Amino acid sequence: MLSGVYGSNEGLENTPNSPPGCLLPPPSPLVSDRLIAQRAKRLGIPVIPGHRAVLTQPLDHRGTPARLHPGNETAQRILAEDMRARTACLWATPCGRGCSIRANYQSTTVHLPPALSSGNLDIRTDAMVHEVTLGRDGRASGVNFIDRTSGKQQHAAARVVILAASACETVRILLNSKSARSPQGLANSSGKVGRYLMDTVGSDVSGQVPLLESLPPLNEDAADGHQLYVPWWLYQEQQAGKLGFARGYHIEFNGGRRMPGYGTAAGIEWLTGGSYGLKFKQDARRYYGSFVYFDGRGEMIPNENSYCEVDPKVRDKWGIPVLRFHWQWSEHERGQAAHMQRTFVDIIEAMGGKPRDPPQTDGAKAIAPGGSIIHEVGGAIMGSDPKASVTNRWCQTWDVDNLFITDGAVFASNADKNPTLTIMALAWRAADHILERMRRKEL
Ligand code: SF4
Repeated sequence: MLSGVYGSNEGLENTPNSPPGCLLPPPSPLVSDRLIAQRAKRLGIPVIPGHRAVLTQPLDHRGTPARLHPGNETAQRILAEDMRARTACLWATPCGRGCSIRANYQSTTVHLPPALSSGNLDIRTDAMVHEVTLGRDGRASGVNFIDRTSGKQQHAAARVVILAASACETVRILLNSKSARSPQGLANSSGKVGRYLMDTVGSDVSGQVPLLESLPPLNEDAADGHQLYVPWWLYQEQQAGKLGFARGYHIEFNGGRRMPGYGTAAGIEWLTGGSYGLKFKQDARRYYGSFVYFDGRGEMIPNENSYCEVDPKVRDKWGIPVLRFHWQWSEHERGQAAHMQRTFVDIIEAMGGKPRDPPQTDGAKAIAPGGSIIHEVGGAIMGSDPKASVTNRWCQTWDVDNLFITDGAVFASNADKNPTLTIMALAWRAADHILERMRRKEL
């Protein structure tokens, strides 16, 4: 209701319905999306509107602030003004470069402006935090950081320290916060800091579809991806042991007549065999908009062999020890990647198209390298046992009660869903918990 997520309720096991009023209406799909949906459905593959945090209509700035901040009129007023200033999407610009009208949900435009308006937030930039400091009582007293502009060592004092530096950087700070009390690094009595790193399982296939060639020019301004997507669907086959791997993946796909690029010029040689002059122009016009791209995003099961630790020899330019990484996919992730390849090629062929490359049947070759999908999570996992995890369910470290972690490091598993909105939900829950405990003077 504050982020603004579009989508639809389809009653699927993988994508449970949201409460009424939560989802905004999804945008209209592209021509290529519609063709993918039609042909994928013939193969028994469900295609539904994606869930994406982009406003398709203005937010309810009258009702939502009171629900989010009951009894706090100042917060309600600030939030209502800020929500009113956010505008519905124009469908015309690349969201990855930031959204000046704030239709796109991102912390810099949605959460930080109202927090700054409250007068209770200072943002300190260019600060390379490398260590959490402890008081004599063993509780966190603040952080040490290097000012990147002056190179000087500085300290920020705190009643509560919350690390949200991204999973691996948070781990790095904890492991570099060594003391006589915590020689293995802070909050690491379990020995689990740095352990169970995960990324998303990724594999991709592209292809060309003659049915989409030489379409008349039309306005295809749309969401920057994810009008439609495929949630994981093969539960029954998996239960019957037909797949050979655990867990599942979703499919993101793209097509359409966007900004022409490599894929519409030099990238057509695999179809034309190479052309020049007038023939090249004709080929470019013919093939522009006829390409489709499929990306699988699957669940990785945490394992003992995927972890990071402080490198004993290498330091960054600030003199801060860096991390070194160890990574191992299991047969489950490799099996998913090989299955993605076969599925994407099946869909392209069902569209009457051809894949650019044959499907890679070797999962070890089909899978993207660990870390490359940049959904790194884990490393300071939450759990119910202090001996087997780093934080409790409130993202509070077991060892230091005023130290919290609110990024992806606390993920104990990495479902196929992209992690950002789950990170935000966990952070919100932790923030509510911290506020309540501060009110009770317990923190
Ligand atoms: S397309 Fe993306 S960047 Fe452009 S208005 Fe919509 S959300 Fe913002």
